[in-house]
Amino acid sequence: MDCLFCKIVAGEIPARKLYEDEHVLAFHDIAPQAPLHFLVIPKKHISTLNDLTVEDTALAGHILFTAQRLANEQGCEAGFRVVMNCNEMGGQTVYHIHMHVMAKRQMTWPPG
Ligand code: AMP
Ligand code: ZN
Repeated sequence: MDCLFCKIVAGEIPARKLYEDEHVLAFHDIAPQAPLHFLVIPKKHISTLNDLTVEDTALAGHILFTAQRLANEQGCEAGFRVVMNCNEMGGQTVYHIHMHVMAKRQMTWPPG
């Protein structure tokens, strides 16, 4: 499958990994939008949030708790922002779901 993040999971494209287990991988974003910006992805290919199914409930929770734990391990006690973009109007550019975690600058609202 021609998927950038599946290639990172397979080790075919390098990434600055933060964490890896059987189900998820976390790595620094290549174009950081904050001093700390990493992505948490499932190892299993899921194209968009709309493709999550009830069988993925535990996996979705694992992604969220991995984001929380890594943010805190990276010293984000002052706060952090979690974003998931879905489809074109949502700003998604890589069609393998990923949770953005951004921190270490003041976030503003509304996001662009
Ligand atoms: P999105 O626009 O929500 O689909 O986010 C995709 C993210 O993947 C963007 O923030 C990109 O900077 C990031 N990205 C693209 N290619 C790579 C890569 N090879 N390694 C790490 N992050 C990447
Ligand atoms: Zn993929």
